[in-house]
Amino acid sequence: MVAQTVKPFRIGSIVRDDAGAAGVITSINPADGSIAGQVVRATPEDVDTAVNVAWDAFRNKPWRRLRPDQRATVLYEIGRRISAERDRLAHLQMLDSGKPLKECINMVNAAAGHFRYYAAVCETWQDEVTSPRGEYFSMALAEPYGVVACITPWNSPIMNEAQKAAPALAAGNAVLIKPSEETPQLALELVRICTEAGLPEGLLIALPGLGEDVGAALVKHPGVRMVSFTGGTETGRAIGAIAGQRLIPVGLELGGKSPHIVFDDADLDRAVAGVMSGIFGSAGQSCVAGSRLFVQKSVYGKVLDALVERSKGLRVRLPDDPEVQMGPLVSTGHRQKVADCVDLARSEGGQVLVGGYAPQEQPLDQGMFYMPTIIDGLTNASRSAQEEIFGPVLVAMPFEDDADVVAQANDTVFGLAAGMWTGDYARAWRVAREIEAGSVWINTYKQSHIATPFGGFKDSGIGREKGLHGLRLYSQVKSVFFGMHEKSMSL
Ligand code: NDP
Repeated sequence: MVAQTVKPFRIGSIVRDDAGAAGVITSINPADGSIAGQVVRATPEDVDTAVNVAWDAFRNKPWRRLRPDQRATVLYEIGRRISAERDRLAHLQMLDSGKPLKECINMVNAAAGHFRYYAAVCETWQDEVTSPRGEYFSMALAEPYGVVACITPWNSPIMNEAQKAAPALAAGNAVLIKPSEETPQLALELVRICTEAGLPEGLLIALPGLGEDVGAALVKHPGVRMVSFTGGTETGRAIGAIAGQRLIPVGLELGGKSPHIVFDDADLDRAVAGVMSGIFGSAGQSCVAGSRLFVQKSVYGKVLDALVERSKGLRVRLPDDPEVQMGPLVSTGHRQKVADCVDLARSEGGQVLVGGYAPQEQPLDQGMFYMPTIIDGLTNASRSAQEEIFGPVLVAMPFEDDADVVAQANDTVFGLAAGMWTGDYARAWRVAREIEAGSVWINTYKQSHIATPFGGFKDSGIGREKGLHGLRLYSQVKSVFFGMHEKSMSL
């Protein structure tokens, strides 16, 4: 598909449709290398304009002063409109990211759900009345920061953007979104839908620029009072360092290398299906991918044989094929990175049991596909077991007992998620409490929904999105005292 037009972006009422100076960002369809779309590229100067427009909207438009039920009405309407445009948005997301259409439909549904959920939170939020210690009435109120910046990755556009924008807006902020340069189109659609649903202009601005200039300018801008970032750990660390210097709060949702554990008392058939879905869903391009597999020694061979067999039959297809189970990776560059990681595993002594190559047959040879890959023979100390690959690559390792697997699972800088399969719920409880991870799944994997908090331990991040924690992330607390003194105050 060849892009017909270069999409403009808006900074409040200013339309930036001049692609002359900064040029355009071209999104490539990972399924076949065609152009998925082009957008006008934002610049650091646009960041400055956007921050000013957003502050003006925050201060002078009624949004933050609306009653919660009035803000909630707009948020509900945004959710309704996202749902109404589901198929078109999902198709666009498929072109931008290469994700299977059915996954994109789920993501658009989730994005709509995020707005509905935070409409309900907004409407039912109760500030605290604190117990007094004197002649006054005291309260703790959730106040917006003002202008917040949200920086998102390419793997789940619209869902990631909604996950940040919905609670940040519900809390009364003005929001600047910088989407990934790989998937710039959905954030522009979200802004359009929000404006059509009645969100005042300037309250939500998307800046489709590069991380190194627009992203960095946002984090450094003195008018940005809080940053919410989802992406790689090293980028998050750099953003956190700047935020630390500026003394502004950050929410960081970062990378992972999640342990997926199969105990010998598990229903092995279900466990194998869970492991497959945990690593090969989204072609492994998921922060919570179960990429380190630990199988109890007595069933190690049996489980690996079953995984290899199923991996050979996995339907690697074009993203709009109704039978697809795994689509392409996001870009040629990313596929090369994944291939380099597999080469590293080989050089470390790993045996590639299945996969380990890009398919050469048509039509997959036109896209950024990489076959599901399982590696055996490495230890948890290897780089392949320690570094995030963010592709369909599973490193499998045996373990002896509960203590051994807890020690190995926790022996990583990351702490985003973990999963386990066992028939013993007391063991599941004990192990779940010992694992250092923000989410633990027992006899399931990769479950997630907007009402349950999400975030990482250790190098996987700071803060929690989703649930009531999501609203708190975008709010600061103000304490208010009403004097009830019967007499004048005395020194
Ligand atoms: P990156 O960290 O490379 O980029 C994420 C975003 O940050 C992009 O919008 C990028 O812009 C921008 N960016 C890059 N450099 C800077 C900078 N110096 N200052 C400000 N912004 C910057 O991650 P990827 O997009 O490659 O996404 C993959 C990573 O995201 C994986 O590590 C994955 O684990 C993690 N992730 C974590 C999730 C979680 O919830 N914990 C969920 C999804 C992904 P540009 O695109 O222009 O480079």
